[in-house]
Amino acid sequence: MTGKKTFTMIKPLAFKQGYTGKILDRILEEGYLIVALKMYFLCKREAKAFYEVHKERPFYDELTDYMASGPIVAAILQKDNAVSDYRKLIGATNPKDAAPGTIRDLYGTDLSRNAVHGSDSDENALIECRFFFSELEEMTG
Ligand code: UDP
Ligand code: MG
Repeated sequence: MTGKKTFTMIKPLAFKQGYTGKILDRILEEGYLIVALKMYFLCKREAKAFYEVHKERPFYDELTDYMASGPIVAAILQKDNAVSDYRKLIGATNPKDAAPGTIRDLYGTDLSRNAVHGSDSDENALIECRFFFSELEEMTG
């Protein structure tokens, strides 16, 4: 799957505000195939496991509390250069620095509630896809 897939999550506030349809529509407009999709309510333990790479960071506890505060929508997206193109589509981590028209600019609220997650490397994309989905749950063809 190297290079062709990335993982995204619509975070709790964006979901609660009703932006899921608009965000998924934008993703499709940009040429991605959605090859797996689910709504899920992470518990704190699962949120901590997902963000384990950040466990030493000062924002880890707040971030994982937030990610376990309401349902999220998780998806695997397929397209050439999926990881880097999707990072461009979502924009900078802090919505106030995100380029105009990016998903975080349009639908983000603040640094922790920045609308969506996007994998930062092919290696992490694979780990994150498999955190939420089995191979059987990914559509092919
Ligand atoms: N985050 C935060 N405070 C910070 C840095 C990051 O709350 O000082 C949150 C933010 O929501 C971000 C997530 O932690 O999306 C993961 O951080 P990362 O540096 O991986 O940013 P991303 O890859 O999501 O742009
Ligand atoms: Mg990251």
